[in-house]
Amino acid sequence: MRRITLFGATGSVGQSAIDLIARNADAYDVVALTGGRNVTQLAADARRLNADLAVTCYPEYYEELKALLAGTSVAVAAGPDAIVEAATRPVDWALSAIVGAAGLMPGLTALSHGTTLALANKESLVTAGPLLLGRAKDHGATVLPVDSEHSAVFQALVGEDMVAVERVIITASGGAFRDWPVEKLAHATLAEASSHPNWDMGQRITIDSASMFNKAMELIETKEFFGVSPDMIEVLIHRESLIHAMVGFNDGALMAHVGPPDMRHAIGYALHWPDRKALPVERLDLAKIGSLSFEAPDHARYPALALATRVMQEGGLSGAVFNAAKERALDEFIAGEIGFLDMSRVVAATLDKMSSSDGLQNAEITLDNVIETDRLARIRAGEAIGQLG
Ligand code: NDP
Ligand code: MG
Repeated sequence: MRRITLFGATGSVGQSAIDLIARNADAYDVVALTGGRNVTQLAADARRLNADLAVTCYPEYYEELKALLAGTSVAVAAGPDAIVEAATRPVDWALSAIVGAAGLMPGLTALSHGTTLALANKESLVTAGPLLLGRAKDHGATVLPVDSEHSAVFQALVGEDMVAVERVIITASGGAFRDWPVEKLAHATLAEASSHPNWDMGQRITIDSASMFNKAMELIETKEFFGVSPDMIEVLIHRESLIHAMVGFNDGALMAHVGPPDMRHAIGYALHWPDRKALPVERLDLAKIGSLSFEAPDHARYPALALATRVMQEGGLSGAVFNAAKERALDEFIAGEIGFLDMSRVVAATLDKMSSSDGLQNAEITLDNVIETDRLARIRAGEAIGQLG
């Protein structure tokens, strides 16, 4: 039996993983499941999968979770430290599917214990890519991509030599506002930004798809994960979300990964890696689909993309600034405090403030520096929000 732990088990990615695992539950020994507010789901899954441990990141939900699991053998814990403790428990495979920078510490801890980490939490690569991958290297641990584009690139690279790679193209649906007049974007509401044309995902990543902050993070994620230079990475608008990424080689070949927009594919690939096993996802009927479309991204519509290019070029701790400022701006947009286009303004202003005054480029990417930069960037982003006209 394979021992597994799921961080962020109650989320969109976590639930897709549980769907796969529950179909073949006898093959897995579930060590820990972690979640947040949705303790009802967490308890139900912990019972169903007979987990050793269920953890909510919020101490105020401890009693409720404990009551829900009374009379079972599932141990219960709460708080960020309890999630990190769960990451010290020996497993063969863990899924990193917490949303936001909160996913970094559990991921780092799991890697320190040699765990194979299936990484959906792109924020940890954006914030601290070299730290995370360095930790994996130091402990002989493997990081597998779960973000669909990165899983697609990873699969296109099987058996290939990186020396022959000329470019990596990640696709984007264009998000909820791809057909809106640019002038209207400033007035986009939370409800409008929270629906995605093709994918069913958590709210934060859905809004990030509308603003293309998600794609911006994926550009940085591509650079970090595959070690390619920023000028080799491209974004292509592909409305159908069927080709997830393409790798261009020095003989002119493009290897495209085509599949249904269903996260169970990328999660399942990481779950069974290095094998490929049958998955319960739709088989595409390309004759029925008929045609696929491609467009260059409109940078006036998606200012987040240029910010990602800037971050990739600046390097150092600018990824930590970018992610923290984006998280802060997104919180404020969700709370109705700032407008849709203000999010990229806040991130740009935070990068400006911190690259001129806080010595980002030359600072080493250590855990202490990352944590301090994240903290400071949230403060600077708050100042930038206060200065919005
Ligand atoms: P969701 O918001 O659906 O789920 C997030 C999970 O993290 C939930 O289990 C949530 O608990 C938990 N959580 C929230 N805050 C914290 C915290 N501070 N500490 C610990 N746990 C926390 O997100 P998604 O599943 O959509 O995304 C998860 C990650 O995967 C993100 O990094 C996202 O960018 C990435 N990703 C997602 C894709 C998708 O299809 N959804 C595709 C590719 C990447 P609870 O809900 O119980 O409060
Ligand atoms: Mg993606």
